[in-house]
Amino acid sequence: MLLRRLPDPVPPARHEIAASYIARLARLHGLDISALWRCVTEREASGGMRRVVVPERLAAITGRTVHALAGALPELRTPQPDWAMFRHQPQPGCRHCSAKHPGGEVTRIMPHHRYVCTRHRLWICPSDADGHTTSLDALPEIVQAQRRHLRILQRHGWAITYDAVLTAILICGQLWSLPESENGEAWQDWVRRARILIPPDKAESGFSVARLCAAVYPEAISLAALFASPYWRQQAQKASWDRNRFDTEVARRLQQSDRKLRMYEFRQHRYNDPINYSDPIDHWAAVTSRRPPLSPIYVHDCKRQSLRKPTLRVATQRSQQRHARAFDPSHRAGEALIAHRHLATVFRRAWSPFRAYMPPLRG
Ligand SMILES: [Zn+2]
Repeated sequence: MLLRRLPDPVPPARHEIAASYIARLARLHGLDISALWRCVTEREASGGMRRVVVPERLAAITGRTVHALAGALPELRTPQPDWAMFRHQPQPGCRHCSAKHPGGEVTRIMPHHRYVCTRHRLWICPSDADGHTTSLDALPEIVQAQRRHLRILQRHGWAITYDAVLTAILICGQLWSLPESENGEAWQDWVRRARILIPPDKAESGFSVARLCAAVYPEAISLAALFASPYWRQQAQKASWDRNRFDTEVARRLQQSDRKLRMYEFRQHRYNDPINYSDPIDHWAAVTSRRPPLSPIYVHDCKRQSLRKPTLRVATQRSQQRHARAFDPSHRAGEALIAHRHLATVFRRAWSPFRAYMPPLRG
């Protein structure tokens, strides 16, 4: 097939999915998107109905080399990247970064560690607000936390960082669900940030689990640095009466001045009644810290290349509306967060002491 080069072959955006790039090229040139899609794709070799992009055809219509295209479009790389390092669903990303790419919305497949566009101070993960990105101008500590997140990544690699960050977000959600009296200043910070991200007079329209995730992100990253560290894992694995150093460090990171006293009370409680014992950090220290990091349970299927835009499932929309109506940042606000699909990998870990009080998983 002889393909002519397009007159205005704009470059792809970083981490853009091929379908998004092809749709932008078509819009820019006034072409039918499906026709251009058929032009640069072919039926998969197995004989199925799916179509896969032929890199050489995309190179021919853009005048760009396959190598240059694959640098921006992960789906075109040979060999294929380790898809476990990426989120399983494509998402819009930062709207300001995308604005310099003409031709309509840019959809990207992002690595797990991208929660904030630090350049434009926008929250971009998890992207369950259906295209919303949230300004962090009033919350610089969340932008700063993304930089600390990248330092954990550089030091420990993506697999340990992925598990540590999701585990820490889940634990912060569990702590946020407890009454104020059982938490320290971090709990106050979560409520304060939630009121900025989801103003009380706009709770129904402004509510999203993504914003709850942003509210706990700074403390989650502080805990994740501890969870990822071999030194602190070793300290955590000591017998509970010999774990002073670990407990003190957790208390410092969560600003829980009374944590040591609470830990003592928890342990007394545990010895008397093990079933009701429920401090998530103590559980992490005693059980999870001894386990290897978990791999994502959902992995991007690059063969499912499609022009269809990712949308929120109806069940997810209903779940969000239910939480939005009942939302009160100072009353069990973390429950919507811990039940969210973004945390599914760590949620499903064998938390046997906690199963009794965890709500069912909702997307
Ligand atoms: Zn940006």
